[in-house]
Amino acid sequence: MAEPIQATRVPTSPLVAVKGMNDILPPESARWEWFEDTVRALMRRYGYLNIRVPIVEPTPLFVRGLGEVTDIVEKEMYSFIDSLNGDALTLRPEGTAGVVRAAIEHSMLYDGGKRLFYIGPMFRHERPQRGRYRQFHQVGVEALGFGGPDVDAEVILMCRSLWRDLGLADVRLDINCLGQSAERKVHREALIKHLGGSRELLDAEALRRLHSNPLRILDTKNPAMQPLVEAAPKLMDYLGEASLKHFEGVCQALDAAGQPYRVNHRLVRGMDYYSLTVFEWVTDRLGAQGTVCGGGRYDGLVELIGGKPAPGIGWGLGIERVLDLLEQSGVPVPLSPPDVYAVVPSAEALPAAMQVAEALRAAGVSVLMHAAGRDAWGSMKSQFKKADASGARHALIFGADELARGEVAIKPLRDAAAPQSTRLIALAASWAPELRTA
Ligand code: ATP
Ligand code: MG
Repeated sequence: MAEPIQATRVPTSPLVAVKGMNDILPPESARWEWFEDTVRALMRRYGYLNIRVPIVEPTPLFVRGLGEVTDIVEKEMYSFIDSLNGDALTLRPEGTAGVVRAAIEHSMLYDGGKRLFYIGPMFRHERPQRGRYRQFHQVGVEALGFGGPDVDAEVILMCRSLWRDLGLADVRLDINCLGQSAERKVHREALIKHLGGSRELLDAEALRRLHSNPLRILDTKNPAMQPLVEAAPKLMDYLGEASLKHFEGVCQALDAAGQPYRVNHRLVRGMDYYSLTVFEWVTDRLGAQGTVCGGGRYDGLVELIGGKPAPGIGWGLGIERVLDLLEQSGVPVPLSPPDVYAVVPSAEALPAAMQVAEALRAAGVSVLMHAAGRDAWGSMKSQFKKADASGARHALIFGADELARGEVAIKPLRDAAAPQSTRLIALAASWAPELRTA
């Protein structure tokens, strides 16, 4: 068992976040909230239910599920030994393995397929750069227990709907078919022969993968290797009738839905668990990190993780990349300023102001209260400045004279004729008489 970690001395330099892990602050967080709301509405429309699984899982889950010779398992996982009991644990680098583990553990598939989604942080030890972080966030869907190409098309078309809901136009679809493992085995031999015949053209990573995971070499971004990889035998040519039929089914469904796509023979994806359909949604607007969403079918994974064999398909979408794309595309941050800023000229007016604010909030109006300091009470001028900066549509002014008459003054700060005004005036009027202080 590992020694418990000694308490580290608290450094005197300022404490900052872990490299590659970002704080998400307002007003930017408003974009996140809007995005998540949009996603939840989408999931409801497609009948996908939310699943929440732990952020930490046993390390073997990912080693077994994702495959030992993958970028993630080889070099990107935050793995550690639990110092209290010696368990090997890992911060989840992706969502599928955990969801499949949970589905098996809770016998979720006993009464048929399940359509699930999650939103949350993932962790990969990568070199931080634009669109690539060590803590990043994904939305993911997993449709478990459905084997037909119709569900492949369904999950792909969900993404199209999401782009539409978000107002994004520049995302295109790449798809490929990886067939079944027996088909990949035959192709693999041909691939090793092709690539191995030109060893001098392979970089170090490709040489290392030549015999362990040659398919991944097709995915290389090394420009020097492109001609070799372009000329490599295509997996599609090694697929049997069933795989081709499945792929045709997906293509037909996409055609019928009017969704354009490119068949990209080099699309292989990073995890070993994929079979048959794989796909990526890509944009040119984000530089090298142009893949905003990737997914595919993983019919062998449930069994691999220890469940009764069941098909599955899903995708994972990088939220940071999509939000960056929204910004690049000029989609503004949808701010939701308060309806009302409560201007409180003096401490005497505070009880009445609080009473009205609470009543308004109970009626669904959002109210930002002037907050005095311990000693100082803000001047009217400074309060109006804050009211303006808050973006509120109205100021409610709790002046002494008005309160004495059982009234509250409403000052429009923006578009006076908004429907909110009428409602607010009616609400304020209905409470104002109770406020009479004289
Ligand atoms: P890449 O080829 O860019 O490394 P990947 O194939 O490793 O991506 P997946 O595992 O398929 O990515 O994850 C799905 C999506 O999650 C990606 O398409 C991307 O949008 C996002 N993503 C992956 N890794 C990161 C990261 N380190 N930082 C931010 N987003 C990421
Ligand atoms: Mg990666």
